[in-house]
Amino acid sequence: MGSGFFIDTKGVICYNKYIQKESLSALERLKAGNRDYLNAKTGVGDISPERRLQTSKNGQKPYAVILSCSDSRVIPESIFSAGIGDLFVIRVAGNVTDNHQLGSIEYAVEHLDCNLVVVLGHTRCGAVGAAVKQNGGFVKFITDEIRQAIGEETDAVKASILNVKKSVEKIERLIKKTDGLKVIGALYNTETGKVDFDL
Ligand SMILES: [Zn+2]
Repeated sequence: MGSGFFIDTKGVICYNKYIQKESLSALERLKAGNRDYLNAKTGVGDISPERRLQTSKNGQKPYAVILSCSDSRVIPESIFSAGIGDLFVIRVAGNVTDNHQLGSIEYAVEHLDCNLVVVLGHTRCGAVGAAVKQNGGFVKFITDEIRQAIGEETDAVKASILNVKKSVEKIERLIKKTDGLKVIGALYNTETGKVDFDL
């Protein structure tokens, strides 16, 4: 495992991108997956019947938790070229963190041994945009949370980053530390498809 090369049943040397990625650290694997996505026209993650069967029988071992927005333009599995069993994804408008999200993260960290949690915000986020206004209904629960994170910030990108950072801080503070656990923020650009991990 690790080289990415294998010999098929006919003795032909083949290259398997999936095997190669397994040898990378979780963060490097996300970065490599995002690089592949930038040039892809369809999803390139492994969703084969073989993978489905293997993960169904043997259980899941996702390499990262992604907390992202529900925005239909932000598709974590596509953005990171991931397939079945690769990512533990939590989606909620505005990628806010409350008890349900924390419970999901805790489960993935403690029971599935995930060591990397990524809070993935994005540009042109409608939830962050709506947070500057007063909202009613159930949306209020989301926009109130975002408003606490962004304060008086009016720049859309800066506000999205502040919102991501608040979730990162909350997860770091409230989720019990396990060996090697890393919580990071990232921002997806809905135009270029690139994920910025250096916020
Ligand atoms: Zn959004």
